[in-house]
Amino acid sequence: MGHFQYRDRALYCEDVPAADLAARYGTPLYVYSQSTLVDNLKRLQEAFAAAEPIICFSIKSNFNTHIAHLMAQHGAGFDVTSGGELFRALRAGGTGDRIVFAGVAKTDAELNYGLDVGVRLFNVESEAELHRLADIAASRGQTARVALRVNPSLPPKTHVKTDTSVRGTKFGLDIETILDAAREVLGKPGVAIAGLHMHLGSPILDTKPYADGAARGVQVIAELRRQGHPIEYLNMGGGFGISYRKHEELPPSAFAAVILPAVRDSGCKLILEPGRFIAGNAGVLLSRVIYTKDSGGRHFVCQDAGMNDLIRPTLYDAFHRIWPVTPPADVPTWPDDCEAEMPGTRATDVVGPVCETGDFFAKDRYLPELSRDDLLAVFSTGAYGMVMSSNYNSRPRAAEVMVHGREHRLIRRRETYEDLIRCEIEV
Ligand SMILES: *Cc1c(COP(=O)(O)O)cnc(C)c1O
Repeated sequence: MGHFQYRDRALYCEDVPAADLAARYGTPLYVYSQSTLVDNLKRLQEAFAAAEPIICFSIKSNFNTHIAHLMAQHGAGFDVTSGGELFRALRAGGTGDRIVFAGVAKTDAELNYGLDVGVRLFNVESEAELHRLADIAASRGQTARVALRVNPSLPPKTHVKTDTSVRGTKFGLDIETILDAAREVLGKPGVAIAGLHMHLGSPILDTKPYADGAARGVQVIAELRRQGHPIEYLNMGGGFGISYRKHEELPPSAFAAVILPAVRDSGCKLILEPGRFIAGNAGVLLSRVIYTKDSGGRHFVCQDAGMNDLIRPTLYDAFHRIWPVTPPADVPTWPDDCEAEMPGTRATDVVGPVCETGDFFAKDRYLPELSRDDLLAVFSTGAYGMVMSSNYNSRPRAAEVMVHGREHRLIRRRETYEDLIRCEIEV
């Protein structure tokens, strides 16, 4: 899995034993491989090279400024969804001309912030936002450059909570009404429609939604141009799936094969907004077993990471591969099918310390017998892991470490109890 590999029955991140990182920085601990982050960005850059795309790393997938800085150093721009993400992208070395700004409820303050720093495109998600942005920009004597986000109305593709392009989600303008919205602002000062945007959902392990979305996009672009809007950009969003279970991810070339022809037909510049594809398999969450117990006919492993550190299993029914950092000799170090029963394992519920029945990472997972102090690795947690963490149950947030070759460095320190009350007014 990228640069996470077992050597002599011990998990390594690049050239550093994961157990050494847990001993040095404590658990729960997010560990990232710098080489995997950069490789994943490069795989996309190469697959789409023919279109000279602007690859805007979706900073919501992993917002640590060190990771964003790495992305900027290697040629990425940023997809931001809030003023806070815009702040992070700029702090990390991003520049406005490489930033696109999405979100269904951008406030006046956020629109002004985007205008202040000259974002390349506002991805506008409603008629009301289009007019509001036009008015604000005009009052500043500016013209906001806009990509209209279209909801291409495709069949369901992912979990109901992460599908963004079926009819009836809150995202974008309906494909049936987008042309009317565009016509209304033709020639209106303050706004110039320069692109078409879509983000279909995530994670997508199939090329068909992109083929269908792009085909609809090309038609809409032709209509917009007929109206007189000089469309320059086609933004196909993110959503490229990754391997959570086996080897289910598609190579970027498969997505490129259906997207590049549409880009060529449209004569547009291509923008992409990948997040998960870059960061997902570049991170693991390390945790330590505190207790094991048997109750109600089930076997529980209670470890020190919880739903406040990683909420995907309970929020999306998401699957993460979980395996010991140093597996015993009678089980494989990297079972090809990590859901199958095999000798030396037993059905286990991996749970955390939070006071919620929903605080689990896996149910009925076949794992070797574990005992106190054993370390577990929860794989594919580099995207939508730390960014969705919280202080629920007054648990300080985990630390984050970046590994590069033999080097490792803290990129976010573990929170302390004092941090928990830092923003509260003193009693
Ligand atoms: C979340 C999001 C992305 C990134 O999705 P990934 O699955 O992480 O690639 C891109 N664009 C928009 C508008 C998003 O909301």
